[in-house]
Amino acid sequence: MNGKVYLVGAGPGVSGLLTLRGKEVIETADILFYDRLISPRLFSYASPQVEAVYVGKANRKHTMPQEEICRCLICAAREGKRVVRLKGGDPFVFGRGGEEAFALREAGIDYEIVPGVTSPVGALAYAGIPLTHRGLANSFTVVTGHQMSNDELLDWQNVWNRSDTLVILMGLEQWPEISQRLLLAGVPVETKAAILQAGSTALQKRVDGNLANIGLRAQKAGIHSPALVVLGEVAGLAPILDWQSSQPLFGSRILVVTRDRALADHWVRRIESLGGEAMDIVFEENGHVLRPAALTALQQLWQPESIHAVWIEGDIPRKSLDLFFPAAWKNHLQTLVWWDGEKVAQYLGNNQDVLFINRDAKSSREAFA
Ligand code: SAH
Repeated sequence: MNGKVYLVGAGPGVSGLLTLRGKEVIETADILFYDRLISPRLFSYASPQVEAVYVGKANRKHTMPQEEICRCLICAAREGKRVVRLKGGDPFVFGRGGEEAFALREAGIDYEIVPGVTSPVGALAYAGIPLTHRGLANSFTVVTGHQMSNDELLDWQNVWNRSDTLVILMGLEQWPEISQRLLLAGVPVETKAAILQAGSTALQKRVDGNLANIGLRAQKAGIHSPALVVLGEVAGLAPILDWQSSQPLFGSRILVVTRDRALADHWVRRIESLGGEAMDIVFEENGHVLRPAALTALQQLWQPESIHAVWIEGDIPRKSLDLFFPAAWKNHLQTLVWWDGEKVAQYLGNNQDVLFINRDAKSSREAFA
């Protein structure tokens, strides 16, 4: 009997924005197909035996063409598996979810669409930008900036005239060209603009300005993909309504390493509630990692240099640390936060970059208080 495929929206980045339905289907999945904008934390909900396959972009190329992804989903379902396809944001908003649904339908495979918080809504909420606001904006439009070299694709004048707020996804690379077209279409130079990178994650960064200067400002600030551009009066509200960047752990990516699943959940929730981004790796009594797929996803999705701290709780055996800290990671870690961590300290002792913080905290609770 055929299995079923779930096309699941994982939200704009931070793990807490996954829906309850999304979590349910991950919990019972046999195989997960995921791409670049997913939080590795979502793998912690899966069964220890889950298989995970990365199908996202590497070095600007698709590691797997779309048809190949569809074929893989169909094959896995024909083997009777419960297949989860995790996608950034919402699967039906520039996520090619429609194409996957068509392919599944043609192949006679059952599927379910689990919506997600799309980035124009979710990422902008984390930046304090409401898409509509009484007196400022009564409508919004979301467009893609991709493929804009085929200029017949978008009538910018029409797009601008019919909406108060304009959000452009995938528009960063071609922003010089897009902004020129907007100016030619009569959008005023002084139109308020913001560019938001990786909203809701630890890599969130925002620049403010207007249509004429925002591109240069983004370049100077080193903004990179994933990023979206927002134009319109509401873009000017970000400096007032931003609530995220003043959170105590904003900008921090923290790994929680424990031997206790419940403790891991506790710390991940706590870190996220303080504005950080967290991922947990749980080791079993025998020193093996409980979910190998989670460790692989972590190494695939989070660059070592983006991780600020590792929170090690409990007595982790040395062979587990070997598994956890491959050489590249050891060299990149800037900060190690630990509790009960003499062994860890010795293990990483000759790495000059490791900085011990909260060294005197009597317990992890105190250190994060
Ligand atoms: N299905 C996704 C969009 C996929 S297209 C959704 O519903 O959000 C990918 C583009 O979305 C990126 O190039 C970027 O423009 C935007 N994007 C996705 N996540 C983002 C985030 N956290 N912050 C800013 N832009 C994001």
